[in-house]
This record gives sequence, C-alpha cells and structure tokens, in this order.
Amino acid sequence: MAHLFDRELNQRSGSKCELCKSEANLGVFEIPPSGEPELLKCVMICDACRTQITGVSDLDQNHWRCLQESAWSPISGVQVVAWRMLKRLSSLGWAQDLFDQLYLEEPLLQWAKNDPLDDDPTIDSNGTRLWDGDSVQIIKDLDVKGTGFVAKRGTIVKNIRLTSNPGHVEGRVNKTAIVLKTEFLKKTI
Ligand SMILES: [Zn+2]
Repeated sequence: MAHLFDRELNQRSGSKCELCKSEANLGVFEIPPSGEPELLKCVMICDACRTQITGVSDLDQNHWRCLQESAWSPISGVQVVAWRMLKRLSSLGWAQDLFDQLYLEEPLLQWAKNDPLDDDPTIDSNGTRLWDGDSVQIIKDLDVKGTGFVAKRGTIVKNIRLTSNPGHVEGRVNKTAIVLKTEFLKKTI
C-alpha cells in the first residue's frame, strides 16, 4: 500500500535514501513515536538503513559513515534519525565527534531522545519517562549527603538535567545543585 507521503517524499529525496543516498529498496519510514502523520516526521530510506535503525539487523559501522554528510540535512526527520544512530555508535571516535557537533533545537532534541529503541531510559518512581528540563516532585524526605540539609518530601525541583546514569538526575534544591535518585521523584507539570 502506498504511504500517504510517498509522492512528496520521493520528490524531496530525489528518490534516494535520505541517509545513505542508496536508490535501492526505498520506503517511507515514520520515525517512532510518530503520532499524527506528518511529512516532517517521515524520511525516505533504503532497506539497509531501515533494518539497522529498527534493530532487525546488526549495525554495520561503515554504512553509517553516510551520516557525516546526511546529519547536516535541513530536514528535521533526518536530523533526528542521525542523532539517534550516532548516539548508538558513540563508542566510535568519528561518531562521537559528529554527535558532539550536532546541534538540535530543543523540541527536536526531545523528539530525538524519545527513542523507543533506547533500552536504558531515565524514568521516575511511576515509570514515567524524564527529560532534560522537566519538573519533578520529591516523594520522600531525602538526606542530601555533604550539604547538611534535608530535601523535603513535596519539594518541586524544576529544570532537571539527566545524567549518564539513568537512576540519577541533577537538580537544584535550596539553591544547591544536587544529584537525585529517580526512584524518589515523580514527574510534575
Ligand atoms: Zn540508506
């Protein structure tokens, strides 16, 4: 069945994979979680890219050197896929370098981070996904080591930052930057 955006995407991509420029086995890829169908949330990609993005095939490191060019695409969907793939490849020097150079606007960055294939997300005590900039409520009085104060239950911590450890986030309590365990937090509006 033809995809809703087949024609537009064929035109936009010049009938080439928007990641690696292959002309073989192209198809529309809706970047998960895609929600409402939107042209900008779709990319035209080849089978080789698709199977690796979705985790069906193992990553072929050399294949993704194509991102050195396509990561600079003005198309937000391409940027998001590039960001996610570079993150997965970040053990490779060139991929980490490129990842560090990429700058995604905030809404795009949040979308990129919301990768369903990311199996190590940062979640609160209810299992709700946490992101940079979120506000959380502390659900238990917490002794904050090295500061001599207690972060009281009910305290709202705004603008948290994720850390490399999915069990920890950073935030400011009593004007002090501290590390909070996510199991004692609840996401709040
Ligand atoms: Zn491709």
